[in-house]
Amino acid sequence: MVSQRQLFLQHVAQTSDFPLMIEIEKAEGVYMYGTEGQRYLDLISGIGVSNVGHRHPKVLRAIHEQLDKYMHLMVYGEFVQGPQAQLAQALAQTLPPHLNNTYFLNSGSEAVEGALKLAKRYTGRTELISCYNAYHGSTQGSLSMNGSESFKNAYRPLLPDVRHIRYNSLDDLQHITERTAAVLIETVQGEAGVRVPQHDYLRHLRQRCHQTGTLLILDEIQCGFGRTGTFWAFEQFGIAPDILVCAKGMGGGMPISAFISSQEIMAGFKTNPILGHCTTFGGHPVSCAASLATIQVILEEQLTADVQQKANLFKELLVHPRIKQVRNCGLMMAAEFESFEVLKAVIDQAILNGVLTDWFLFCDNSMRIAPPLTITEDQIRDSCATILQSIDVAAG
Ligand code: PMP
Repeated sequence: MVSQRQLFLQHVAQTSDFPLMIEIEKAEGVYMYGTEGQRYLDLISGIGVSNVGHRHPKVLRAIHEQLDKYMHLMVYGEFVQGPQAQLAQALAQTLPPHLNNTYFLNSGSEAVEGALKLAKRYTGRTELISCYNAYHGSTQGSLSMNGSESFKNAYRPLLPDVRHIRYNSLDDLQHITERTAAVLIETVQGEAGVRVPQHDYLRHLRQRCHQTGTLLILDEIQCGFGRTGTFWAFEQFGIAPDILVCAKGMGGGMPISAFISSQEIMAGFKTNPILGHCTTFGGHPVSCAASLATIQVILEEQLTADVQQKANLFKELLVHPRIKQVRNCGLMMAAEFESFEVLKAVIDQAILNGVLTDWFLFCDNSMRIAPPLTITEDQIRDSCATILQSIDVAAG
């Protein structure tokens, strides 16, 4: 009989340079289980997706209940769908009052596309600015905003009138002018290897955008939904965006994304030509039900309350001559090694020992540590002991 692995290799487009080739049978809480009896403690969370853990019972219940009612009905928002309306309200309740209007999509890249279009439409301007080393997605527009040339070169020409500035550089804020429709920025840079905004950087950025009439779009696709210890990362930096983009952790494991803005800005999409943005599946009722339950779990189970404490425990335990530094914002963490080769050997060994981690797209010497927020102290201790042992075995 042909194995699943053979089918995978033959028929699934291979997009990873290093496929793990581990067949997963089940995932629950912070663990994934392989078909050969292996158990993995998940320190990746599908890159900030499983913030409430895999298959949280309340999320599962919401999905089942919605499945029993209806799935897809109709595109372009003709019908009132309860789960969508309730989710939009729940999102607004987590946000400053002006961010009260939500456009639902399916993936982070799609939400970024929508936000960029909205900014151009609302301001009537064309220039878009993002940061070096930023990751915003893989569709043509979102790809254009990525800050890594090597990822983009094969696809040129991309979106015109895109400019990059250095993250955390106050000097570079001068490049934002009355020509600039929007600045798109990750509140905390993810794929750059967890780069945290320096003191007051985001405040200065916010001010410059106000001065020039430029919209500030915060990409919280990776850092939102409790990951950094507040529901939204921007809450920690004393600013708010004009447009917020979110995805990943939003659906508790189901695909859903959104860009969120004010009634006034979002109205840019309602003026002629209408259908400023369209989606067939965006805001799917089952994903909305899952997302609503996810928000309730984060709030009711107070999952952000001990994020800093858990992150501090990781930092306390991850001390080894081979670890150069640990950067973090809450449980969005990066442990830096001297090279990719050393890190890769450590990661391979850790996986053999039952702990799942990886590296970052634009920072391949740093280990990604982003467990479900539900991880316990004991599980943190176990996973750190495994990582340290793996360093000794693989790179000692
Ligand atoms: N923005 C950020 C900050 C991300 O981390 C990602 C995904 N890694 C994206 C956008 C794109 O999201 P998606 O893969 O869902 O299109």
